[in-house]
Amino acid sequence: MLNKKSVDDINVKGKKVLVRCDFNVPLKDGKITDENRLVAALPTIKKLIADGGKVILCSHLGKPKGEPKPEMSLAPVAARLTELLGQEVKFAADANVVGENAKAAVAAMKDGDVVLLENTRYRVEETKNGEAFSKELASLCDVFVNDAFGTAHRAHCSNVGVTEYVDTSVVGYLMQKEIDFLGNAVNNPERPFVAILGGAKVADKLNVISNLLEKCDTLIIGGGMAYTFLKAKGLEVGTSLVDDTKIDYCKEMMEKAEKLGKKLLLPVDTTIAKAFPDPIDAEIEISVVKSDAIPADMMGLDIGTETAALYADAVKSAKTVVWNGPMGVFENPILAKGTIAVAKSLAETDATTIIGGGDSAAAVNQLGFGDKMTHISTGGGASLEFLEGKDLPGVVAADDK
Ligand code: ATP
Repeated sequence: MLNKKSVDDINVKGKKVLVRCDFNVPLKDGKITDENRLVAALPTIKKLIADGGKVILCSHLGKPKGEPKPEMSLAPVAARLTELLGQEVKFAADANVVGENAKAAVAAMKDGDVVLLENTRYRVEETKNGEAFSKELASLCDVFVNDAFGTAHRAHCSNVGVTEYVDTSVVGYLMQKEIDFLGNAVNNPERPFVAILGGAKVADKLNVISNLLEKCDTLIIGGGMAYTFLKAKGLEVGTSLVDDTKIDYCKEMMEKAEKLGKKLLLPVDTTIAKAFPDPIDAEIEISVVKSDAIPADMMGLDIGTETAALYADAVKSAKTVVWNGPMGVFENPILAKGTIAVAKSLAETDATTIIGGGDSAAAVNQLGFGDKMTHISTGGGASLEFLEGKDLPGVVAADDK
């Protein structure tokens, strides 16, 4: 359990509460195309409003790299939050985030009012955890609440720096829920515990593979990272994505699995094509071959049908499943079959199912399986670092219980 003070441990009546949320939502032509992160932030915001706090929200959106970019303004978020909360969320449109608009808006707040600041990454200091911007943010509030799990693996002004200049810093409900779900799954799982890892590169997930091997009963590997494992087993992988610098590492992991008595499942067959689809969703001619029969001039782009069935079976017998990373180039419908099969098996099981954010979360939601999962993390990078067993700076910075 998370041993940090939360919004349940404080009294915010009449106080100015700065809440770091993760409103980093996808936008298209000024419209929010996936509002999961906004919805996930509501319980904390509603609680603080109900308790009579003056609720000042802040977040980053995209990567404006330290300068105001109108297409990354949080204005559309303020408008949508106003609808979701059923009360005005006043937007403080300052290019420097803590400017005249923000100060005036905060000064005029009554208990239960809500203000949203502009994109914190409009300020170049934000991602450098600079002192001046941290102090400016702190000057707006009496209490700080961090509910942005998606950025908890980063130490920035708006989630870590600010806590140095505020007396009380606590976590919100979303942060608590994320850590409780991921923490329970990994450290106290109902067994069998099956972990599924996919995605492009082995190198991105080295520590996750190693850490999960120690915790789970079965580790399933798919996606582009599988081919480095297959090559490490001495198989021909053609022109598939391979990281030759990580062959020894993969061998080590296979030995580790054996030593620990854990199952490490690799694709037994694979979907191949002549080349990577260009554009990514282009029509593409595929065939399915055994993993030991990949021709030298072909590329593996998805797990095969037999592998999909094998992985689905492993999920069926599990009591806890954690999944991060697609099984193939799921952006292309022809190469999404493996990812869909795995998503479907998770949707159909009664086991606790946890999706580690990022592409797998997007895939599950796109397929309409979102409400069939126990928990879909709002943070890809943060959930990965958590699965690695790392401390998250955004969580560490909150006051201990
Ligand atoms: P995030 O980091 O957002 O959480 P993720 O962990 O879910 O994402 P990534 O490591 O970013 O996943 O990898 C996802 C990408 O991997 C997808 O764009 C997909 O097309 C690509 N991919 C999957 N299988 C293959 C393959 N066999 N060859 C090349 N690319 C692949």
